[in-house]
Amino acid sequence: MDSPNVPLKTVTIVGGGTAGWMTAALLSRLFIRGYTIRLIESDEIGTIGVGEATIPAIRSYNGLAGIAEKEMVQATQATFKLGIEFVNWRAPGHSYIHGFGKIGQDLMWLHPHQLWLKALAKGRARHFDHYSLNTLAARMNRFCPPDPRNPGSPMADIDYAYHFDASLFARFLRGQAEGRGVERIEGRIVDVKLRPEDGFVDRVVLADGREVDGDLFVDCSGMRGLLIGDAMGVGYEDWNRWLLCDRAQAVPCESVSPLTPYTRSTAHGSGWQWRIPLQHRIGNGHVYASSHISDDEAASVLLANLDGKPLADPRVVRFRPGKRHRAWEKNVVAIGLSAGFLEPLESTSIHLIQTGITKLVALFPGQGFNVADIAEYNRQHDFEFCDVRDFIIAHYKVTDREDTPFWAYLKHMDVPDSLVERLELFRSSGRFFMRAKAELFREESWVQVLLGQGLPMRYDPMVDMVPDDQALSFLRDIEEVIADCARAMPDHAAFIARTCQAP
Ligand code: FAD
Repeated sequence: MDSPNVPLKTVTIVGGGTAGWMTAALLSRLFIRGYTIRLIESDEIGTIGVGEATIPAIRSYNGLAGIAEKEMVQATQATFKLGIEFVNWRAPGHSYIHGFGKIGQDLMWLHPHQLWLKALAKGRARHFDHYSLNTLAARMNRFCPPDPRNPGSPMADIDYAYHFDASLFARFLRGQAEGRGVERIEGRIVDVKLRPEDGFVDRVVLADGREVDGDLFVDCSGMRGLLIGDAMGVGYEDWNRWLLCDRAQAVPCESVSPLTPYTRSTAHGSGWQWRIPLQHRIGNGHVYASSHISDDEAASVLLANLDGKPLADPRVVRFRPGKRHRAWEKNVVAIGLSAGFLEPLESTSIHLIQTGITKLVALFPGQGFNVADIAEYNRQHDFEFCDVRDFIIAHYKVTDREDTPFWAYLKHMDVPDSLVERLELFRSSGRFFMRAKAELFREESWVQVLLGQGLPMRYDPMVDMVPDDQALSFLRDIEEVIADCARAMPDHAAFIARTCQAP
């Protein structure tokens, strides 16, 4: 596999969806000189056209790619996102928010949820929402970015992401990438030619007979995995036994007021529905298990739960939860849906595109391909997908719901050992330990979701070292500071109108 001393000159990206254009925009920014970067996309095939909610890490992608926030928000009809509301997940009628960012602050080494768990056991705690600025602000439809002039205040730590129109985002990135010299080739690939000596991809053939070569091929061709699957023969690990949903129907609807700064996920009988508020419309989709509900029924559930008038007919998208056994094979690196897909419950797919690109940059085969780089890339790919998978499964496993066959199966199913161990640690002492730096979801995320889903949790016995009065007054202080900060934040829609809309 090693091919030393063969400097790479041309990167050919296959596919122009979010994955393809995010890759092109970042590579062209970082490798402005030295490499030819091309992107092939087919207007006839088009893109998946969903994928509109992000997580805060997108802001570091934007920073690296040189994207100005205001320009992006204008170009993509974006809104700001402080977290995700989960409705009906623990039980019908119940709701909680997974807010991004910090929860209160620590008392010595003790995390606030530990003090809160003890206070709750004594009947002296308010709802957990009151200890997270993001959650409280989301409930009040307020938003502002972090204010560095207030170090030490929760206002300095506000963490946020965006909701944006996926096709406008791809168009925006295309403008950036083409402006930096990326060559766009429109056409449908009908054949992939391999080098006989080593099985590397040599070139792809378009329907009109044109051939496009490359040294490195980035497969962003979507779920089909034109290069990584069809040409390289890399298989797919199916996670359907834990993640029953394998289909979605998406439909935009008219906007309504207020403009909420969070995604909403509403659980239904055989799946769940997303609600993503943009400036010009609301994106909605019903993600469901085709083994438990028909497409027609799923469409009816979706249409019955819209806030505004539908702007199109529902569109069905089929998917297979899981990941490629290897995302990098020979001279093909799969990024985006070609590398795997986990349902959008925690808006992680665009993030996994981002980590795919940054891993590629870190292990860039500028001087040729070597086995160690490829193995490391694939090891990290496995870790990232399994890490996100466990977090998503936890939403289904930890629930009081058993009211339909879908929920009854999920509540009682066996889950991966890595998740069993984590849940047990939370149950016995509310404790959490990071297992690796690359873990995406931190303690705050796990705590909010597991408490929200109703996991019975005992507090860390070390909390008993703190006198009750001290712990309660500490919690009260957090609550007051957070309430003051949330009240000081502007209305979300007013903030966008004032700072982001074109004059
Ligand atoms: P695609 O958008 O499918 O693009 C594939 C590209 O390859 C297209 O340009 C196509 O023309 C080209 N192509 C394919 N075959 C050929 C060929 N033969 N010749 C030439 N070109 C070809 N992610 C999030 O982060 N947040 C979300 O809220 C979210 N919601 C989602 C909801 C659903 C129901 C689904 C299924 C996904 C969601 N995602 C979400 C994931 C997100 O949509 C994708 O990760 C993202 O859009 C990237 O897609 P892609 O670029 O890999 O593939």
